[in-house]
Amino acid sequence: MTAIAPHTVPDAVSRVRTDLFIDGEWSPPVDGNHFDVVNPATGELLAQVADADAADARRAIESAAAHQSGWAATSPRSRSEILYRAHQLIMSRVDEIASVMTAEMGKPLVEAKGEVAYGAEFFRWFAEEAVRIGGDSTTTGDGGHRIVVSRQPVGPCILITPWNFPLAMATRKIGPAVAAGCTMVLKPAELTPLTTLLLADILVEAGLPAGVLNVVTTSDPATVVTEWMESGLARKVSFTGSTAVGKTLLRQAAGTVMRTSMELGGNAPFIVCADADIARAVDGLMVAKMRNMGQACTAANLIFVHRSVIDEFTDAFTTRMAALQVGDGAHDGTQVGPLVEPRAVAKVASLVDDAVAKGATVCCGGDTPDGPGYYYPPTVLRGVSLDADLMRTEIFGPVAAIVPFGNADAPTDPAADDEVIALANDTPWGLVGYLFSRDVDRCARLAAALETGMVGVNTGIVSNPAAPFGGVKESGLGREGGRVGIEEFLDMKYTASPVIR
Ligand code: NAD
Repeated sequence: MTAIAPHTVPDAVSRVRTDLFIDGEWSPPVDGNHFDVVNPATGELLAQVADADAADARRAIESAAAHQSGWAATSPRSRSEILYRAHQLIMSRVDEIASVMTAEMGKPLVEAKGEVAYGAEFFRWFAEEAVRIGGDSTTTGDGGHRIVVSRQPVGPCILITPWNFPLAMATRKIGPAVAAGCTMVLKPAELTPLTTLLLADILVEAGLPAGVLNVVTTSDPATVVTEWMESGLARKVSFTGSTAVGKTLLRQAAGTVMRTSMELGGNAPFIVCADADIARAVDGLMVAKMRNMGQACTAANLIFVHRSVIDEFTDAFTTRMAALQVGDGAHDGTQVGPLVEPRAVAKVASLVDDAVAKGATVCCGGDTPDGPGYYYPPTVLRGVSLDADLMRTEIFGPVAAIVPFGNADAPTDPAADDEVIALANDTPWGLVGYLFSRDVDRCARLAAALETGMVGVNTGIVSNPAAPFGGVKESGLGREGGRVGIEEFLDMKYTASPVIR
């Protein structure tokens, strides 16, 4: 992409190193190419970063492979301390990191600061986990052999991250890999490489040895990642991104029977039962829908509201959405920033147009403003038909599609629960679901029936470093964070030895 000349580049962006980070050195790509990073709030050029090709990719994975055994031999305590230091360094530079993130990705500064704190917390969490890698010991049933079960780092890892949470999606992978003793090659999304490059610099300052983390930026992800996947040097791929790319990587991983962690797309149902606390449900939806301008895998995509409360809920929610302040995320008071690129705006606009053509009513928003910047307004649609395209598509924008269920005259009829669960589960995805009800039995029943890896009950947020984040069905494989997060980067080894009496 060719952008216009830079004018309003924040100082923090100008200071980010834009070369490749391989084997502990910042170096330009072999062929000297660069690609543009653009501010979605203005369309202006922010920076040009190294555009790696297959030869650069090769150097990076060879570095990771060369350093694996030495890194695995370091003490868990020393790896833990690097993560603690990195956590502290990130927290001492929140404003700087947030301003880089807002500039390249668009989210309001207040949200960017929230992501910095959330992302840093993965380092603290895995600093604590590094020294708690467990094992097991027992004897065979006949008493003749000792069984010792230990954990070893899985080996060099390929980490691939998306643009929507450029810091947290990286720390959620780097944290457990460092804790477990794995070396890494990391490829950030081409729309948002700057935050990750800044993070690499911070990890160096925290004491991460050369070659443990290699960061490769490219405008040609398929070439770089295929080089890694087919190198025979990597033992694991951890990916966060779309289901389509995840399926490609799963096919490639089969070539060398690589371990995989896949954090893929979502299509989250948000259920408001007849007995819900409406004010609380509206608060929950504001978070579940509007975090990151709706560009989150956890974003509420389909909002099912019981007919007996749909007018009250929709009116209250529309009032809140219409009052949101849209603008450049770097400006004070902005609550909703731009979408990440023009393609995203076009996709959201076409989903809204399709829903309206199929009978939906626009309660607020619904018009694409003129540029500069890639904006789409907070939009509420009601009466969305079940055959609208957005029922089966990740909207990834600030559009709330409200779908009625149940009988308005029979709010206590339990048939509504079965109806809404069937609607919510009618999707190939299964990342997260949200439900709002005052009845604890109903909450337990619906939470169990939702085919998702995570459920928010009377809350619009589930992400937390202490929780196992991940989905079922086409939303992915494996979990990040929580007690199990480090397991994704460890292999189990069982050693048998005879018991000598
Ligand atoms: P994407 O799949 O287009 O890109 C993700 C990453 O994959 C980027 O780094 C990209 O450069 C890389 N990539 C693209 N094509 C590739 C290829 N052929 N081979 C290897 N790598 C390739 O997704 P995106 O648009 O950046 O992110 C949005 C998607 O990510 C949404 O579907 C969202 O739901 C999902 N997501 C999931 C989670 C989760 O934890 N489940 C979190 C955030 C985002």
